[in-house]
Amino acid sequence: TEEQLQNAEKLSIVGQLAASIAHEIRNPLTAIKGFAQFLTEDKSSHYGEVILNELERIEGIVNDLLVLAKPESNNLQQVNLINVVKSVVVLLNSEALISNITIDVKHDQSELIISCEIDKIKQVIINVLKNSIEAMPEGGQIIVSVKKDRNFALIRVQDEGVGIPEERLSKIGEPFFSTKEKGTGLGLMICNRIIKNHGGNLHIKSKENEGTTLIILLPLYEK
Ligand code: ADP
Ligand code: MG
Repeated sequence: TEEQLQNAEKLSIVGQLAASIAHEIRNPLTAIKGFAQFLTEDKSSHYGEVILNELERIEGIVNDLLVLAKPESNNLQQVNLINVVKSVVVLLNSEALISNITIDVKHDQSELIISCEIDKIKQVIINVLKNSIEAMPEGGQIIVSVKKDRNFALIRVQDEGVGIPEERLSKIGEPFFSTKEKGTGLGLMICNRIIKNHGGNLHIKSKENEGTTLIILLPLYEK
């Protein structure tokens, strides 16, 4: 509809603005962080540590916002989604193992080709898997399954984490909505943005104390 179109345009303008501001903030931030490091060497005071912690928080937000820098998918590549998923899992495996978590990848086909900006799709899978890891402080299993669903590739990420209470489910994906001390609340909003830009869709199902399942649909590449 007309209204949806206008909203999409607004979002893209806001996204570009956010990204360019984030870019400008990053360089001075790196410098400040470097000097703040010296302050932490003074063991008689913990102010340096507080400063460094908060700077890292800003850095997290800036890095998340930078993903919005190129809202249009203009650098498309045909890739095998199964390999992309596997490479991201390898990347996160050691982090998962520290928390006693195993990540298993399941697929019944060997190839599902999508046309995408590969770094952005990797970012989506990283964000989603990190959320699952962060939701399982006691450890457990994450199952990532990839399959064909009509004209789409379907990625399902299923965890055994803390889950999301029903009344909170509608807030998930709103910018800056986070239940974590060090969260930015930008991860899922960015995932949603990237997936929408690829013509796909993101669904989330969850049950408190049982776990969360994220379903990502991305259009298959048609020759
Ligand atoms: P952040 O991870 O910085 O908090 P996100 O946008 O990635 O931001 O996630 C927003 C919120 O959604 C999280 O703070 C958490 O409350 C909830 N959430 C997301 N993924 C999961 C999950 N797999 N299990 C439980 N809660 C989740
Ligand atoms: Mg997150």
